[in-house]
Amino acid sequence: MRKKIVAGNWKMNTDLNQAIDLAKGIVAAQSNSVAQLILCPPFPFIQAVSEVCKSSLIAVGAQNCNKNKNGAFTGEVSVQMLVSLGVNYVIVGHSERRTYFNETNQELAEKVVICLEQNITPIFCCGEQLSERNNNIHFNVVQTQIQEALFQLNAEEFSKIIIAYEPVWAIGTGVTATPAQAQEMHQFIRKVISENYGKAIADNISILYGGSCNASNAKELFALPDVDGGLIGGASLKVTDFISISASF
Ligand code: PEP
Repeated sequence: MRKKIVAGNWKMNTDLNQAIDLAKGIVAAQSNSVAQLILCPPFPFIQAVSEVCKSSLIAVGAQNCNKNKNGAFTGEVSVQMLVSLGVNYVIVGHSERRTYFNETNQELAEKVVICLEQNITPIFCCGEQLSERNNNIHFNVVQTQIQEALFQLNAEEFSKIIIAYEPVWAIGTGVTATPAQAQEMHQFIRKVISENYGKAIADNISILYGGSCNASNAKELFALPDVDGGLIGGASLKVTDFISISASF
């Protein structure tokens, strides 16, 4: 059976004390969610959040990594560094990184490889802009993102990936994809995977939805046959909201 997952992307929010309080609140409030919960704080707070989470089943992720092992890349953070902080997941290719930091599918392909080499699970983000949906090319866009960034992997490597479908027009906007739109795209993604890697692998990959997912709409979204949980931005910054989303299966 596919893993249910709820990951919180805190983005560039919180200070150290707020990050610790948020993590403590989530650890204290989490009950027996069927989902794997993952907290993705900003880099400087990963160690403190790892410390809070270490006695729980909650995992810690990072929001990005560099594609190189180490070296003269001032200001960057390597996967090896993240491993040493207790990180098990890295968000790769969030639309904000694609947009503001010009990350390409080719660069993301390299990040995915270096994550897998270090036994880190990439949470690979894909999703179309509103104009692309309006021009009816959203399926092509998402297919290309997945093919160019992931299809160099062999079947064993690919089966370790988590995919997050995040329509860019839904991120931080308060506009959520309708259940029909989400299911249609998740089913399409699974079909694309199945055509390349076979049905067994496609059936086992967790595909998360992201984009204004909150405590009110999570239940409906997570009940969809091809939606296996969520990548949560804004609503992951409030303990009660994140816990309520985590219990929405
Ligand atoms: C995100 O940035 O991954 C995200 C889904 O944000 P939000 O939940 O705030 O739309």
